[in-house]
Amino acid sequence: MIEWIDSHCHLDGFLKKGELVSVLQKAEESGVHQMIAIGTEPYDWDINHDLKLEFPSRIDYTVGMHPCYVKPGWHKLVDKLKAYFHKAQKPVALGEIGLDYYHLPIDQSEAEAHKMEQHDAFEAQLAIARELDCPVVIHSRDAFEQTLHMIDNSEINWTKIVVHCFSYSSEQIKQIIKRGGRASFTGIVTYKNAPNVKKALIEQGVDRLMIETDSPYLSPEPHRGKSNQPAYVADIGLKCAAYFGLEVETFAQKLAENTRSFFGLDKLN
Ligand SMILES: [Zn+2]
Ligand SMILES: [Zn+2]
Repeated sequence: MIEWIDSHCHLDGFLKKGELVSVLQKAEESGVHQMIAIGTEPYDWDINHDLKLEFPSRIDYTVGMHPCYVKPGWHKLVDKLKAYFHKAQKPVALGEIGLDYYHLPIDQSEAEAHKMEQHDAFEAQLAIARELDCPVVIHSRDAFEQTLHMIDNSEINWTKIVVHCFSYSSEQIKQIIKRGGRASFTGIVTYKNAPNVKKALIEQGVDRLMIETDSPYLSPEPHRGKSNQPAYVADIGLKCAAYFGLEVETFAQKLAENTRSFFGLDKLN
C-alpha cells in the first residue's frame, strides 16, 4: 500500500465551508493518511489544535505567525503562541514563520515598515523555537539571504529547519543543505515553467526530502487551476518519484519516514 504524508497544508478553509470530512475522505482514498495543519495567525492556531483533538491519528498541527500576517501588536501574541507547547496535544513545530518580500504594500515607506515588523516577529519566534528546541517551518519569499542570515544568527540547529514551498534555485538549496537544513516541495515541481525548482529538488536528493500541498494554494498538475487539497500530495509524489527514477512505493515510504522523523510524528497502526 502506498502511503503519502502531506507535510504542510491549511485546513481552516475546508472546515469553514463544511468540506473537511470529504477532503479527509478523498485524502484517505489517495493514500494520504496523515497531514500537518500549519498555523499562520491566532485565528487558525485554535482551529488546528482542535482538529488534532478531533482527528488525533490523522492530523498534526503547528502554530506560528506567518510574515504576511504580522500586524502591529504582534508582541502580545507571542506568549499565546508559547502556551500551545504546554497543552496536552502539542504542536509538532513552530511555523510557518519567516520573511516575505513578495507580498508587500505598494507604498515604499509602508513596505519598509512592514519589512521591519516581519523581521522583528521572525527574530522573536526564532528565539522561542530555540528555547523550545522544536522543529521550525520556514516561509521565505524573495528574501533568501536575509532568511539564511537570521536563522544563522538565531543559533538554531539547522537540522530542525525546513524551508517550505521551496522556490529558490539549486545554488541556493546547496547553502541550506550545507548547514544541515532541508527544503520541502509543493506542486510547483510539477509545473513546466519552474525548471529551477525541479533542479533544486534533484540537487537535494531524497535523503531528507519532504513534500507538501500547501493547500488550498498551488494545485499540482493535473489539477492546476482548481483548489488544492491534501489528496493531491500523491500527484506531487508520483511526479517526484519519476524525476528521481525511483519505484513509487519505496520512494513514498522514504518520504513518510523523513517526515515522521523530522516532526516526531507517530506511525499509523
Ligand atoms: Zn508559506
Ligand atoms: Zn503554508
